[in-house]
Amino acid sequence: MKMLKVRKLFANDEGFKAELEALLAWETVSNDSVNQIVKDVLRNVREKGDAALLEYTEKFDRLALSAGADLEIPKAELKAALERIPADQRDGLELSAKRVRDYHEKQVGKSWSYTEDDGTLLGQQVTALDKVGLYVPGGKAAYPSSVIMNAIPAKVAGVPELIMVVPTPDGDVNDMVLAAAEICGVDRVFKLGGAQAVAALAYGTETVPPVDKIVGPGNIFVATAKREVFGTVGIDMIAGPSEILVYCDGQTNPDWIAMDLFSQAEHDEDAQSILVTQDAEFAEKVYESMNRLVKTLPREEIITKAITDRGAIIVVDDEDQAVEMINYIAPEHLELSIEDPQALLPKIRHAGAIFMGRYTAEALGDYCAGPNHVLPTSRTARFSSPLGVYDFQKRSSLIMCSAEGANVLGQVAGVLADGEGLQAHAASARYRVKD
Ligand code: NAD
Repeated sequence: MKMLKVRKLFANDEGFKAELEALLAWETVSNDSVNQIVKDVLRNVREKGDAALLEYTEKFDRLALSAGADLEIPKAELKAALERIPADQRDGLELSAKRVRDYHEKQVGKSWSYTEDDGTLLGQQVTALDKVGLYVPGGKAAYPSSVIMNAIPAKVAGVPELIMVVPTPDGDVNDMVLAAAEICGVDRVFKLGGAQAVAALAYGTETVPPVDKIVGPGNIFVATAKREVFGTVGIDMIAGPSEILVYCDGQTNPDWIAMDLFSQAEHDEDAQSILVTQDAEFAEKVYESMNRLVKTLPREEIITKAITDRGAIIVVDDEDQAVEMINYIAPEHLELSIEDPQALLPKIRHAGAIFMGRYTAEALGDYCAGPNHVLPTSRTARFSSPLGVYDFQKRSSLIMCSAEGANVLGQVAGVLADGEGLQAHAASARYRVKD
């Protein structure tokens, strides 16, 4: 019987550190030929607008359209799709949207201010972005859940206009994706994918309006294009392939753990699934389960490649070593499949989303638990956070000086401005100082 290949590493082995580095090595946006393709696409869309969009949509999505206006999916189509899909799918989307909305409402940032004794007011005003572009991937699979995860936090933040792009390879439009757009209140949807979709949203064309920020996951062409247009527009993050790290004490059903590892591996050949455990016998049991279960899955080939190339089972000495590993790897998804995950939580510092306890399959978070499934990958959870309402809000500082406040601050600013040699600054501040 052909066995699934998976790296088995022991944290105490000599050379483990080098093996771990090799396992984690992944540069999301590094490929020179992709960079060149993306640069050309961005330039062409900027210069030629709709004509370039039509050309690339035919070339990359095998969809020939005759005019820019054909790129847009009419609003009535979204409503019709919602009415067409089976009732259980509609109910599932609606429940998911509700739970995601309830969760994200807790994230809304509020304006604040305070007044000092002399009457000077200081504060911060929070406002929503005007117009946001949502990239919903669609090259190899359709992702209605990504519509919900991108659109709902923007809506909760109060963004007045949501423009969605989604590729429709060979002209296949996914009804669940359109239905999700309708449920979430997306304003306009365009049949566009890849770098050309990002370019259209960043620069605008005759048909596609330019937006202020582009959010959403996508393949390497999308990620590279987002990095290139950053500055012209805001972006949420540069997302790499999906990852899961499961830490298990050896007491969970090995089949559950094997399938949790596969749930991310099935996304992509480059996805990464890692099991960390202090129980070497349990590690073998999970390996047995993986071998048996992989054959039952339609995406066996993708899973096998992901597990072989980038998967690992790491045996550690104890919980402290497991925690050290988790914080170093900073995984996108972390499952703590242990007896008392809450006790361990204070020690976990870097992870995109933390799924606690034996019953919390990561897949629940992908669809309907409530938290966002757009998460930092490739160790970026060390410095970034899940997509949230805060990504669609910005803050303006507020200062309102009383005459008394200007008297004090004007003198201080004058001294500091003199020190910097900026005479207009000094004079402007001192005009408000009482004689
Ligand atoms: P996609 O929509 O990201 O990309 C499809 C587009 O890529 C096409 O429309 C085309 O324009 C462009 N493209 C394809 N081949 C090209 C080429 N040779 N040259 C130029 N452009 C080309 O869809 P996808 O490919 O299915 O990738 C989706 C990605 O998003 C996957 O990696 C998946 O794991 C990820 N994803 C992540 C999340 C998350 O929340 N992190 C959710 C869903 C999907």
